[in-house]
Amino acid sequence: MRKWILVFSICMLQITVFAQTAKNVSAPPGLSSIRIEDLKKDVYDLSDAHFRGRSAGTLDELKASAWLVEKYRSIGLLPAGEDGTYLQFFSILRNRVADISSISINDHKLALWSDIAIAQMALKNIEAPIVYLGNAVSMDTAALHIKGKVVALEANPKGINQNVSLPTWRYTRNIMVKYGNALLSKGAIAIIFIADEVAENGWADAVENFKRGSYDIEGGPASRVSTIVPVLWVHGSAKKELESGTAVLKANIILERFEYPSVNIIGKIQGTDPVLSSEYLVYSGHQDAHGIRNPLHGDSIYYGADDNASVDAAILAAARAFKKNPGKRSVLFVIQGAEERGLLGSRWFVSHPTVPQKSMVAVLNGDMIGRNNIDSAALLGVQPPHRNSTDLVTMALEANKEGPAFKLDTLWDKPTHPEGWYFRSDHLPYARVGIPALMYTTLLHPDYHTPLDNAANIDYAKLKKMADWMYRTGWKVANAQKRPALDTGFKLER
Ligand SMILES: [Zn+2]
Repeated sequence: MRKWILVFSICMLQITVFAQTAKNVSAPPGLSSIRIEDLKKDVYDLSDAHFRGRSAGTLDELKASAWLVEKYRSIGLLPAGEDGTYLQFFSILRNRVADISSISINDHKLALWSDIAIAQMALKNIEAPIVYLGNAVSMDTAALHIKGKVVALEANPKGINQNVSLPTWRYTRNIMVKYGNALLSKGAIAIIFIADEVAENGWADAVENFKRGSYDIEGGPASRVSTIVPVLWVHGSAKKELESGTAVLKANIILERFEYPSVNIIGKIQGTDPVLSSEYLVYSGHQDAHGIRNPLHGDSIYYGADDNASVDAAILAAARAFKKNPGKRSVLFVIQGAEERGLLGSRWFVSHPTVPQKSMVAVLNGDMIGRNNIDSAALLGVQPPHRNSTDLVTMALEANKEGPAFKLDTLWDKPTHPEGWYFRSDHLPYARVGIPALMYTTLLHPDYHTPLDNAANIDYAKLKKMADWMYRTGWKVANAQKRPALDTGFKLER
């Protein structure tokens, strides 16, 4: 009898210990600070029409930056930007085609953007005969002798995946990759694509993108464009003149270059451990969206509620949670500028970090976390070649099990996925310098980069689940005895 009592007691003891452990693991102390009301208010406020779509490098983005600074201050984050502030300014370097540029074929002057579009800029003054290559699909590239020549060819959609997001913009780029690069390697000095039906239909959209030119930070690949070969698009109606084989291109392409500021907003919560507090867990998101663009249903503001006010709201929620209950490690909250212009803010921060680069133990980045089915989500950086820390992946997957229990998508993290989603957000520059990195996302939807990405279309119950997950993962990272190790041999496919 006593023996049974003893066994029974031990069992009870074990059950109690297990229950306590499970409770400790499953409910980090700041979880109650992640409130749906706050998430909703923050998304509505940040994606309000007042900020006019927060286009990078504009006063609209700067107004949003000031709003975020005030949020950081009121939550009680310590400034962790530059000069004792929450801010880290950087310059966007912009190149675009100047209106005074002129292009003619056979001395027949073409109207810039309506008759002829410049898809790839280059500061060039060219006068040369045009070699007509026919249709791109039937062209025998190997046999071509086109060194020093201008070439013209008809675009063809065969083999180009158009079932992707931003299809117009990507079509002209993919045509260039599929056919143009080989012509460049053969020494062509300019390429003229004759629009096919797909390109004709997307002309206005494509031109809107071409006109904007390129954006980069100091030292980036697009900050210098003068040596590149120009790539031009003409309408199908120009084919006749070009196929004669006697046409001459005269192009005087002038570029204008200027710079203007964007800014990263950086705050921190000091860790409690005397040793580990010198290390940082980093939360990352972006503040900018797409500003004012082509109207849809009479609305021209691209509010960017899911992309990416949803993540900024989740970061603010995590900040409140860590403020109330700090972890052993310190936590850095980085809301970057100019992500949509080429991950400019995160690239700048990673090359000019305000804490030592080696002290950043992991980055949890989010992009678009408030849409689609409430039971599913995606985590990128989980499968090779995108995984750079098995330890960090394990923590995030455990946090999912203990908390929101999403059914996780496994397709979008694959290198073969046509969207290349892993390469399209701010964790990338961190991963490239060897910081364990993950991207939280609820993936694309038809309202992506349109005025319909607004606060009314966010699923706030889902956003709360995602914010919980990001906080739960962060809590593990901030308190783990050992920082998540970097996997050996990490090498991205591009
Ligand atoms: Zn985004």
